[in-house]
Amino acid sequence: MTESFQFLCLLMDGEYQTVSAYEASDWPQNGFEKLLALGFFNQVENSQYVVCPDCLYHDGEVVCIENPGRSPRWFIPCPESGRVEIRPDELRQWRISLPAIVQAIAGQLSLTGKPTELVPGHVWRLGRWKEPDGLHDVLLAVGLRTKQAENCRRAITSSHKPVVMIPHREPAREFWLGKVPPLISLYAAATFTNDRIQLDPEYFVDVVRQEELEAAPGEAIGPEQLRMMIRKMVRTEGQVRIDDEILLGALRTCGSTRKAAAFLSEELQQKVTKDRVQRAVDRAGGVAAVTEDYDSDSVVRSRSRNRRDTMPERTA
Ligand SMILES: [Zn+2]
Repeated sequence: MTESFQFLCLLMDGEYQTVSAYEASDWPQNGFEKLLALGFFNQVENSQYVVCPDCLYHDGEVVCIENPGRSPRWFIPCPESGRVEIRPDELRQWRISLPAIVQAIAGQLSLTGKPTELVPGHVWRLGRWKEPDGLHDVLLAVGLRTKQAENCRRAITSSHKPVVMIPHREPAREFWLGKVPPLISLYAAATFTNDRIQLDPEYFVDVVRQEELEAAPGEAIGPEQLRMMIRKMVRTEGQVRIDDEILLGALRTCGSTRKAAAFLSEELQQKVTKDRVQRAVDRAGGVAAVTEDYDSDSVVRSRSRNRRDTMPERTA
């Protein structure tokens, strides 16, 4: 049954999110019927094209032949068999019901608040998740590679410490224009057992903490780490496309746009201007957005460390 749920995730990533009767019959272990019974699909208008039930080799446009006084009949042309009749049930198709899936997933996590649709048909806030570092908005985002992608990104990045569930495929890194939020693939994280979606909360927490560690923008890494990061990218990609992540990483490490530009120019053996660093900052929402955590965390920490260092010991 889990396998059918993975089918569903792939379908959620698709553009049309519909399943034809022919495709549905192919899902393992009657998986489609079970998901249908849970309300994860709604029947929509009949297919206009169906796979030829006679030879299974081609699609054909369905032609309806009115039959006065009796039910209409449907046919498609087949190069092998001529005219092939299609049964009415073979014309059915269904579309994913995202609200039903949203409810089912939200019910699996101990979240506060009710699911709210942020971008119609694409982004929902499932609720808030309490972590030692505070509350996170847990979101489900579908269609991050469609025309709605920009609206989706805005809804996500303006959420509070977002944790984003996605059906399966992650958008390209540059999609985020800066910090990548923790992403949880339903395809990988969820199973479907005992006729319901099951999300392992521990797995969920692990992913959130791990991804936060990796994605934490405020952790100003040292110049050596930044160099290694850049070299690794050179090795894997042949040449570095200087994306915002690198520009902002250098800014956090070096502390000013001018120093960041000088550092990158030397490291990459090509001219990187401070205006270019500045544009990355602007894209990410300004200096405050880029260095917010850095200021409140690393800098404060190092300031208090300095103060301790210079203060006389009370007990001395
Ligand atoms: Zn055929």
